[in-house]
Amino acid sequence: MLGRRRLEMKKTKVVILGGGFGGLYAALYLDKSLARRADVEVTLISRENFFLFTPMLHEVAAGDLYPGDIVNPIRRIIRHSRFVEADVQAIDLSARRVRCVGGVARLTLEFEFDHLLVALGSETNFFGLPGVREWAVTMKRLIDAALLRNRILALLEEASLHTDPAVRRRALTFVTAGGGFSGVETTGAIYDCVREAVRYYPELTEDLIRVTIIHPGEVLLPELGEELGRYAERKLCERKVEVLKGVRVASYDGTLITLANGQSIPAATLIWTAGVMASPAIAALPCRKERDRLVVNEFLAVPEYPGLWAVGDCAAVPNARTGKSHPTTAQHGLREAQVAARNIEAAILGRPLRPFTFTTLGQLATIGRRTGVAMIFGMKFSGFLAWLMWRTVYLAKLPRLSKKLRVMTGWTLDLLFARDLEQMLTLRDVEAIADMAAQIRARAPGTRTTIPLSAERLSNPGGLDAPAKPRAAQE
Ligand SMILES: Cc1cc2nc3c(=O)[nH]c(=O)nc-3n(C[C@H](O)[C@H](O)[C@H](O)COP(=O)(O)OP(=O)(O)OC[C@H]3O[C@@H](n4cnc5c(N)ncnc54)[C@H](O)[C@@H]3O)c2cc1C
Repeated sequence: MLGRRRLEMKKTKVVILGGGFGGLYAALYLDKSLARRADVEVTLISRENFFLFTPMLHEVAAGDLYPGDIVNPIRRIIRHSRFVEADVQAIDLSARRVRCVGGVARLTLEFEFDHLLVALGSETNFFGLPGVREWAVTMKRLIDAALLRNRILALLEEASLHTDPAVRRRALTFVTAGGGFSGVETTGAIYDCVREAVRYYPELTEDLIRVTIIHPGEVLLPELGEELGRYAERKLCERKVEVLKGVRVASYDGTLITLANGQSIPAATLIWTAGVMASPAIAALPCRKERDRLVVNEFLAVPEYPGLWAVGDCAAVPNARTGKSHPTTAQHGLREAQVAARNIEAAILGRPLRPFTFTTLGQLATIGRRTGVAMIFGMKFSGFLAWLMWRTVYLAKLPRLSKKLRVMTGWTLDLLFARDLEQMLTLRDVEAIADMAAQIRARAPGTRTTIPLSAERLSNPGGLDAPAKPRAAQE
């Protein structure tokens, strides 16, 4: 009786979209406060059921770390909030609902909200360049890094089967578009990986390898300033990484990259880190945007829509000190998340809101072969010391002790042994998985069924776990 009355009580619904730095750290705050209350329900919705520590993604691409080392299961981190693995499709601000699709059958799920925190990050922008979306590989998700490592090994195997030097060269040409953090770190890391791996292929020689960065600006890592950018370039060039500046990719057909200046590069791999854009769910919102990002006020609220909040890469957060928006980095995203969560709590409990103020502590990047660049509290560091600082800082920031220990073990073993060369996934495996997925989908009940769900319903045994009924049967 008491239980039923509690269920019938009108709960304030807080929904968080995205399980990255912004979403997870907001959920963590609310998990310890509002989510424990009987009259509040906190739901976190994200595409994957894990939190990805992006600063270490390039280490997975290079095989220095295993994919599982740099992710944390969200369900192990939040205890009192609800987690739903689903893809956010649309946000209806007037109906105060979020529409998602989830599960094998791609069920449509709807969530009502009183407060909505949008932390969907960003998506890769291919700028409509011919063939780039279809053929380039990206570096945003865990699977991107795992597949890139797999691809490097697959291409080494492939190149070793051919005798034509042009075919071998094309297979062993890795081009990165974008000279920002992600592009430079990935290039440095995979360069080390390919050089080290090629020794185990007697048919191949180092001179067949070509690793190139294409950067539209004049200085790599522009966020770190000219001096460190030039240092990074010099170190990469010393290692025979080719740096093409002031030029852009125009198209790619899977074998040939064409540049805007007419030059072309035969390459089996183009790694695209050259642009981001808002998630389609945000692009469709009728709110004020700055470069695709939702414009929020100093309290991280979207002023036109009470109850709508945004943080992280998808939010343009004003910096009163500079008059510009705060940079889109993990250190900002997670701090914005904590302030937004506190403000949501304050709004619900009728307390005053707190403005977001934060000064960038520093930025660090690795450029391969135990070399890095860093700017900490305005001081510049480069070389081995910066690389060591990078490892120390990010190891400390990686959530959960078990993951820290795994990473530390990985790094220690890396000092003692050569990296592994196993190709975990072949094209045959991918075809088999695709066939299996098609069969599972065909058999899954309730494909494309619309089930208007509140988060409460999801927790009931008759919710998602039960076979979905067709819409008519529910009505
Ligand atoms: C390769 C790489 C390296 C980086 N290195 C650094 C670094 O060294 N230091 C640093 O400070 N920053 C770094 N960054 C930037 C940093 O990762 C971002 O600034 C930070 O992740 C932003 O947090 P966020 O929560 O806004 O977005 P994200 O962390 O990207 O999280 C977005 C979340 O939303 C989910 N999502 C997205 N769309 C949907 C949808 N439609 N439905 C459901 N869920 C969805 C995603 O799965 C993800 O969980 C790096 C980024 C990349 C890609």
